[in-house]
Amino acid sequence: MFSVNYVYDMLPGTENVDDLWADEVYEGGFRNMDPERQRLYEFCESRGVGITVMKAFAGGDILSEELSPAGAALTVPQCISYALSRPAVATVCSGARDPEQLAESIAYCETSPEERDYAEAFANFPRVSWSGHCMYCTHCHPCPAEINIADVTKFLNLAVAHNESNGIKEGSAEFRVPDTESGHYKALARHAGDCLQCGLCETRCPFEVKIRENMQRAKEVFGY
Ligand code: SF4
Ligand code: SF4
Repeated sequence: MFSVNYVYDMLPGTENVDDLWADEVYEGGFRNMDPERQRLYEFCESRGVGITVMKAFAGGDILSEELSPAGAALTVPQCISYALSRPAVATVCSGARDPEQLAESIAYCETSPEERDYAEAFANFPRVSWSGHCMYCTHCHPCPAEINIADVTKFLNLAVAHNESNGIKEGSAEFRVPDTESGHYKALARHAGDCLQCGLCETRCPFEVKIRENMQRAKEVFGY
């Protein structure tokens, strides 16, 4: 069980909970996910460890425009959707503060993809930037080569994270793709090698991810 929301994801880990809410932490705004958190998610997924989420609403702060460190609020479905789309996350205990939030959480299963979509809200936060970081949001789809860009990027990141956890860098002779990631990648209908390098996906990505470069990296890592 692990606390997952975008605010915690952007802060370096600490054993002192008061550090999370110190005013100076929020003064400069936020830029991208803390790399250790990212590695933790990817490591858990690559080892088949499921995460149960708590604090999906950061105690309610990120549901409030006034209290949110980003300067704008998210909705309950957006918070749940964000937590569920982190690698390795299996379930969310929503931590509702009142019966209304509980009802909204239960109604998640009935919400539309548009109501769950957090990407546009994230891209327009006044004090937060995820530039260059793939959020697996699928806004770049559809691809004319029918590549599932979010999944290819995720398996690429997982393969790299697995190797880095063993001190092996991408591109080195020791680099090996773990069986789990190679199996998942193989099961995809289209692969990075099918990329036409047309760049259409990059015009749709709210986070300025270098998708063409990622497709080339994935082709090299997986071999096709
Ligand atoms: S490349 Fe961009 S649009 Fe596509 S899944 Fe990643 S963050 Fe979303
Ligand atoms: S650049 Fe590649 S991944 Fe992006 S839309 Fe074109 S074919 Fe698809």
